[in-house]
Amino acid sequence: MNDKFSLTVLGSRGSVPIDGKNFVRYGGSTSCYKILAGNEEIYLDAGSGIVQAVPKAETRITILLTHMHLDHIIGLPFFVALGQKNRPIDIYAQERSGLKPQAALARLISPPFWPLKIEEYPANATFHDLPQKNFKIGEVDVEFIDGTHPQGSTIFKLTFGGKSLVYATDFEHSPAGCEKLANFAYDCDLLLYDAQYTADEYDKFRGFGHSTPDEGLKVAESACAKKILFVHHAPCRNDDELAELERIFVARNENVSFAKVGDEIFL
Ligand SMILES: [Zn+2]
Ligand SMILES: [Zn+2]
Repeated sequence: MNDKFSLTVLGSRGSVPIDGKNFVRYGGSTSCYKILAGNEEIYLDAGSGIVQAVPKAETRITILLTHMHLDHIIGLPFFVALGQKNRPIDIYAQERSGLKPQAALARLISPPFWPLKIEEYPANATFHDLPQKNFKIGEVDVEFIDGTHPQGSTIFKLTFGGKSLVYATDFEHSPAGCEKLANFAYDCDLLLYDAQYTADEYDKFRGFGHSTPDEGLKVAESACAKKILFVHHAPCRNDDELAELERIFVARNENVSFAKVGDEIFL
């Protein structure tokens, strides 16, 4: 059996895509992470990073959406697998603002904003509400909790072959929220954590639904996470600024890195 379990960063920019020579190393595409777990190919979010995804022919494709903010769904109409006739694609998301996933996506991905709805593509896309409890995608266990974010956001944990990763994007810290997350992520092999703001910037953006690397480090350390990947970089934070932040936080904890497009992490 194929027991490979890996995460590839396809996009980790927060809020809006950006490009230019100062955004090459960390990348300018918005949130999308490709997980390979045996024969499962699971995408965490469908930001503009999913546009460059090259799905394998033999895998089963699932997309887990944390929430429907634009930066997490804007790449979906361009996902190459949607153009593959009858290819099954399962899309899971929580009902939010009174809208089930299919209805929420159709608000944006339908005329006049886009010529087609997702279900009109050649692939066989199926929408799923998140079930009441944890569920399985093949041999992958999926657990989830709610994060703190405007309109809400889902924090996912994927476990495969005894290894686990937790994806906590679009999460704003609070004492209770961080304790809940640290318990949920306890002993995970990899924690992806929203580090959009520096601690100095955070005061200006309180209530916007994002966090800081300082808070992420505290959560990761109380969760005993083996690796920490900071994600959802501020849109205008350039490569040099991110590298400097990374240098500072790696000095505090050698298991830290800031997500760079193309990074592949094996669990
Ligand atoms: Zn976001
Ligand atoms: Zn958001």
